Amino acid sequence: MTSAQNDEIRDVIIVGSGPSGYTAAIYTARANLKPLVIAGSVTAGGELMNTTDVENFPGFPEGIMGPDLMDNMQKQAERFGAEILFDDVTAMDLAGEIKTLSLADGTTYQARTVIISTGSAYRELGLDDEKRLSGHGVSWCATCDGFFFREQNIAVIGGGDSAMEEALFLTKFAAKVTVVHRRSELRASKIMAERALAHEKIDFVWDSEVVGINGEDKVQSIELNNLVNGAKSTLDVTGIFVAIGNDPRVDLVKDQLELTSEGTIAVEGRTSKTSLPGVFAAGDVIDSTYRQAITAAASGCAAAQDVEHYLANVNETVATV
Ligand SMILES: Cc1cc2nc3c(=O)[nH]c(=O)nc-3n(C[C@H](O)[C@H](O)[C@H](O)COP(=O)(O)OP(=O)(O)OC[C@H]3O[C@@H](n4cnc5c(N)ncnc54)[C@H](O)[C@@H]3O)c2cc1C
Repeated sequence: MTSAQNDEIRDVIIVGSGPSGYTAAIYTARANLKPLVIAGSVTAGGELMNTTDVENFPGFPEGIMGPDLMDNMQKQAERFGAEILFDDVTAMDLAGEIKTLSLADGTTYQARTVIISTGSAYRELGLDDEKRLSGHGVSWCATCDGFFFREQNIAVIGGGDSAMEEALFLTKFAAKVTVVHRRSELRASKIMAERALAHEKIDFVWDSEVVGINGEDKVQSIELNNLVNGAKSTLDVTGIFVAIGNDPRVDLVKDQLELTSEGTIAVEGRTSKTSLPGVFAAGDVIDSTYRQAITAAASGCAAAQDVEHYLANVNETVATV
């Protein structure tokens, strides 16, 4: 492993290469700030690398495959001069005027501003076939994928508010939605629980966990285990929506930046400004509500403009001292 400090102090380093990171890169590159994007190693391109058709990103009337969309964004950022490193940030020192980032390969980089766009991770069931069938029946996002399941039988896994929201949304398309929950009652708020329990298209399987997902190329059924009596059963579904929570990727900054009660990085109003000057955040890492590619991209655009204004103010102050 090398250990090298890069003496150059950059205007901006962007951590993350999802829609928010690459959009921030496009805007800061076009503003001549020569951004360095630390893209991540195995997870470069972000969440959309794990999906197939993206049909709701404007500008692609026929839809586009997730990895192709991210490849386009990368090329667009590079076209304007963004430099991209496919490595992971392992530590950040964000307190001073000059921020220092350490990478997995042992190198360190310095910058006046940092945009954190590390996204968030949907919790997984941890089953062998879950990843294999992701985008082929297994999904974490009803808004993104519900449309593909018209008149089909779908399972939603989870018992909280987001699971009920997903289940209710999916009733617009599905023939039937079965909510599978580990407990005998829902964790969701009373109003959401009542709505879901009263819905004619929603059934419930209580006290049960998913122990297997069946299907060669796409989901055909799931295996259930009743946690109370140990009974095993098979549920025929062509879609399974996992709604058991979401964790914003804040490990590297949680001791330095203020977080919200939902665990996202706290920002000032509609801006990307965090609790530390010169540190900005964008995308799903600040968003517990919308979590879409287009909202992440918009947020990256806002962060880039906030960086520009911040640097202009810093330079103005330096010039007048
Ligand atoms: C299966 C699936 C399907 C989806 N389908 C759709 C869809 O059809 N339409 C839609 O609008 N949205 C969809 N979404 C949601 C969408 O993918 C996210 O809202 C969006 O990707 C968020 O963008 P982001 O830039 O905030 O974060 P992400 O895309 O999550 O990107 C995070 C980035 O941070 C990087 N990173 C994290 N930690 C580090 C580190 N330590 N060092 C360096 N880099 C790091 C990762 O490498 C990655 O590049 C889907 C999500 C999933 C999981």
